[in-house]
Amino acid sequence: MDEERQSDHRRWLRDLELAHFEPTSPGMPYWLPRGMAVLRSLQDHWRRAHERWGYQEVSTPLLARDPLYASSGHLEHFADNMFFVDAGDGDRMGLKPVNCPGTMVLFRSRRRSHRELPLRLACDDPPHRNERSGVLTGLLRVQVFHQDDAHIFVTPEQAGDEIVDLLRLARRLYAGLGLEFGLRLGGPPEGHIGDDATWARAEAILARALDAVAGPDGYDRVAGEGAFYGPKADLLACDRLGREWQLGTVQLDFEMPRRLGCRYAGADGRERVPAVIHRAFLGSYERFLGVLLEHTDGRLPPFLAPVQARLVPVAERHVAGAGELAARLRERRLRVEVGDGTERVAAQVRDAALRRVPFVAVVGDREAAEGTVALRGPGGEDRGSVRHDALGDVLEAACRAPAV
Ligand SMILES: [Zn+2]
Repeated sequence: MDEERQSDHRRWLRDLELAHFEPTSPGMPYWLPRGMAVLRSLQDHWRRAHERWGYQEVSTPLLARDPLYASSGHLEHFADNMFFVDAGDGDRMGLKPVNCPGTMVLFRSRRRSHRELPLRLACDDPPHRNERSGVLTGLLRVQVFHQDDAHIFVTPEQAGDEIVDLLRLARRLYAGLGLEFGLRLGGPPEGHIGDDATWARAEAILARALDAVAGPDGYDRVAGEGAFYGPKADLLACDRLGREWQLGTVQLDFEMPRRLGCRYAGADGRERVPAVIHRAFLGSYERFLGVLLEHTDGRLPPFLAPVQARLVPVAERHVAGAGELAARLRERRLRVEVGDGTERVAAQVRDAALRRVPFVAVVGDREAAEGTVALRGPGGEDRGSVRHDALGDVLEAACRAPAV
């Protein structure tokens, strides 16, 4: 089996019991308990980081009637990728394919002042997209997903600095996950909304920010790859097999906020239209996890591992003690499982490695008498004997999400 097939993330979805797919819901994962734990850990990481970075979280309806998507431009430019349902009164409603129009409705729901800007609104609602079934591949292209999505309302003058700052945050976020990204700037696609001068102004601001972060030769320009409402910078991650994945995106938009009636009062009291930066660093969590599973050959960083530690009782007489220790570790929100003591230790340790469990703690007669475990870390390295009352601290430190 070649390495690419060997590391196919769909194998890990099955072997690590993360997610299941059925033809009745194509491209829509059924998350199993262990997969849900991984997804939640990634969302918790996102939430903590974004609170620290000055974002506020919002949620908006999944369904909206056509006039919203007519104003935003999605009916004209994105309807082929949308699902629609009967509203029951002769109208129809669209299932949101993106979080932008809803977030802009929130912005315009009351009078806004320039003093509120930049206003950073994050949204973790699951968008749905109607993709051709031929392009659905496990988690890499799905029809419902979660994103580390946010919309930042800025004055046009604030946009450049804000983009520089957030690209630096994105670098830190990726570094903590063991990845780097390259950048690609997408120019105007055929039939984009707004006039060419506004596009050029937005693209110049975005390009200056990329120059500042990556250097003028540090990114590619690709014609026609922008969003229908503005230029975009894609974050391209490179995996250990040398494959490039488009994950995150940063887009600068002068059009949609104008069309959706977003306004703020400037310092002179006059009404102005804010610019909006659309941004997702990791992109869809589902796709990101698919890439990360392939990149790490199933060895997710310990804070994301579906099972973080396995306690291995040498014999059945050690099972009860191991169970009590596991209960104490679970109280600290560590994901721990316990062997049943019927299999040989070597077989249990091998099985933990196959199931990509980063920590294995063996409990035998000597350990039980001493109140310790024999601990092995990721890759099987020997961590020596650790006292029961210290094990929680050791595992907690090793399974902590990276600092951002
Ligand atoms: Zn958006």
